[in-house]
Order: sequence, then C-alpha cells, then structure tokens
Amino acid sequence: ILEISNLHKRFGDVEVLKGVDCAMQQGDVVCIIGSSGSGKTTMLRCINMLEEFNDGSIRIAGQEIGYEMRGGTRRRKSELEIARQRALTGMAFQQFNLFPHMTATENVTLGLIKVKKMGRDEAVAVAERWLDRVGLLARRNHYPGQLSGGQQQRVAIARAIAMEPKLMLFDEVTSALDPELVNEVLLVIKDLAREGMTMLLVTHEMRFAYEVSTRVIFMNQGRIAEEGNPREMFVQPQTERLAEFLKSSA
Ligand code: ATP
Repeated sequence: ILEISNLHKRFGDVEVLKGVDCAMQQGDVVCIIGSSGSGKTTMLRCINMLEEFNDGSIRIAGQEIGYEMRGGTRRRKSELEIARQRALTGMAFQQFNLFPHMTATENVTLGLIKVKKMGRDEAVAVAERWLDRVGLLARRNHYPGQLSGGQQQRVAIARAIAMEPKLMLFDEVTSALDPELVNEVLLVIKDLAREGMTMLLVTHEMRFAYEVSTRVIFMNQGRIAEEGNPREMFVQPQTERLAEFLKSSA
C-alpha cells in the first residue's frame, strides 16, 4: 500500500532525510521511533505532501505521490491532483487542529460534505458512527473548548478516519496530552489496529510501540538505522545506536 524509495529532503543546506526506503502492506501497523530531529515527522509530512521532497519517490496504492516525470524533468503535480492524492492518507497531529467554532460532529462532517460531497444527513450518520467508535457520541454537540485534550484528539482521529483513507498517519498524537489522558487515545489507536487499519505512527511511547506494531522503524540522523518486529527491536537491538536510544528513553 505504501512504497517509499530513496526519499531525500533538504531544508536549505541541511539534509534531513538522506535516502529513506520503506514499504508497508495493507493492515501493517508501523511505528517510527528515534531521537528528536532524526526526521520522523518530516517523513510523515512528505507522505501527504505537507512537505515537498527533493528526490526519491513515494507511492500509495499504486499512485506516484506529488511529482511526475515530464520530458525528462521532475515536476510537481497540479494542486488539484495533490489535493486528491492527499485524501489517500488521513493524518492526526500532535496539536489536534480542530476547528474551535464547530462542534465535534461538525468537525467530522465538514470534510465529508465539502470533499466527499456527502449529503448532510448521511455525513452526520457517518460522523456519529465514528464518534461512537472513539467513545464520544455523548459529547457530539460539544465544542473543542468544552472537551479535554484526550477527547479533542479522539475527535481529530475520528475526523481523519471518517474520510476512509487508505493509510492513517499519526504524528506524536499523545505528546501534547497530560499523562492521565494518554491512555484513552492509545486505546483508540490499538482498537483501530486490531481491526486491520493500516497505520504509520511516530511515537515516543515505547511500550505502546512494542504492543501495537507489526514492525518498528528506528530513525537516526535522517536514515533508517534499524527495523524489525517489535520483539527483535526492543529485546534484541542489533545496533549500538538503538540500544542507546532505548536506554535513554526508558
Ligand atoms: P521530534 O521527535 O523532535 O519531532 P523528528 O524526528 O520528528 O523530531 P523532524 O521534525 O522531522 O524530526 O525534524 C528533522 C530536522 O529538520 C530537525 O533538525 C528540524 O530542525 C528540521 N526541520 C524540520 N522542519 C523544518 C523547517 N520547516 N525548516 C527548517 N528545518 C526544519
């Protein structure tokens, strides 16, 4: 479902991604771990073209993302095409990015109505189904300001998933939460994983990564330094770097 090959990304003179390769199959749950500044967030942002990339290719469900070769030169695809491709993925962010003047339901229905051209009644039904799934049906008429951080994040996740993306991207979705609210969000994600949703997550929650992942990727200085199943990675790290990182984040 996802195929990243030789991905390079520079910010000015600084090369943040130095040739990343990664493939995911449908139903995979892949966690990206690694120290601050290793390029984890940038990699996610390239996948949905929130960030342009300089070289390499990303394919989602067989589609070449963001760029095409024309007459021997690499060109950015049209904005319309990029917007259409962006719908292949759903993303949840560290900061929930809900619209403050809209209720939970309205936050979820907005994309369904505007982008998916769904009728209002159907959109509300879909929104309520997903809000129910994340345990928030009773709060559907609340505004973000009336919800806890954990609840807001669950609305944000419901909003992304309601669009039926092929791949869900989670970028440190618990980092901005008070410790006692982290678990309710992680439980929702675990639940989705169990149901076979394809997910790529950047996380600092090692225990969660261990429990939920089908595979773990360790990024270091813009490269994938090690990857494997969670047992291999957490119990028998092969590289000194990963062993050190795990020790420092324990
Ligand atoms: P963290 O765990 O702290 O979020 P990360 O592994 O997700 O770290 P990235 O956010 O991908 O790391 O950042 C990788 C590097 O790219 C960092 O050195 C960062 O300062 C730099 N960087 C990120 N965004 C930009 C930007 N818009 N302009 C310039 N440099 C940037």
